[in-house]
Amino acid sequence: MVNCKRCKDKPVYNRLCKSCFLRYFEKKVRKTIREFKLIEKNDKILVACSGGKDSTSVLYLLKKIFSKRKDLVIEAIAIDEGIKEYRDKNLKFLKKFCEKEDINLYIYSFKKEFKIELDAIIKDEKPCSICGVLRRKLLNQMAKKLNATKLVTGHNLDDECQSILMNQFRRDVKTSARLGPKTGILVDKGFVQRIKPFYLMLEKEVAIYAFLKGFMQQLNECPYEKVSYRADIRDMINNFEQKYPGTKNSTITSFLEILPVLKKEYKNKGNLKHCKECGEPCSQDICQGCKIIQKLLRKT
Ligand code: SF4
Ligand SMILES: [Zn+2]
Ligand SMILES: [Zn+2]
Repeated sequence: MVNCKRCKDKPVYNRLCKSCFLRYFEKKVRKTIREFKLIEKNDKILVACSGGKDSTSVLYLLKKIFSKRKDLVIEAIAIDEGIKEYRDKNLKFLKKFCEKEDINLYIYSFKKEFKIELDAIIKDEKPCSICGVLRRKLLNQMAKKLNATKLVTGHNLDDECQSILMNQFRRDVKTSARLGPKTGILVDKGFVQRIKPFYLMLEKEVAIYAFLKGFMQQLNECPYEKVSYRADIRDMINNFEQKYPGTKNSTITSFLEILPVLKKEYKNKGNLKHCKECGEPCSQDICQGCKIIQKLLRKT
């Protein structure tokens, strides 16, 4: 076996041993935060957690990196969509983790906030599109309520590649303009800015980091994930990466080159209103989330 390229120890990934890999990973995340100016002085940071490997790792690492910064507050927020055997298990793990790490955790549920549970409504609907819109809405609403200045997500390089291609295939370039390590195109006090410290980390790297740190005892996947459009795109990109290594990195690098142009283009075309029902920023009179809730409640 070939030894670690830095210290000659036993390698765990890409010719790096455990400690050299952890150092490489943490250094790259620090660099991402610095280069894209993701965190500023006096930020109140809320980490959107699912109890999965990505968000648990990002929460852990931000606490570690900024442990000496007295001006920053780092807390966690989670959404319970009502997915039995999945979200309840993940939330149990997350609660324990936050207790151990002494992190404040806020949990909000679709049931309490929207009178809806995902398991009960998916029969003839696409679960991920409903879940995604409602979760984003609730996270933004609650982040504002908690006076957060940044909402951190555990999105990694693979997630971003998938989003870019999904938008491309659906001819939805405007949505891509909102992507990037710092999301958004329009500045509005109704939006809490989302940041992605794992933007340049491969999914595989985050999985190894989580495993080495012991955050991956429970491999628990959402039952609806398999039937999503994203899952098909993910498989396609993974096949491509295997055949043509470097595809994922090239996708992100070229996207970052055109992103400033996209942001500028769609900033001028922005038509920002506020939802008449809930007050959230949106492009029409009623936001997508309220439309979905009204439709679902009419059916019940
Ligand atoms: S996989 Fe789909 S349904 Fe499951 S948590 Fe994610 S967005 Fe929601
Ligand atoms: Zn080493
Ligand atoms: Zn609304």
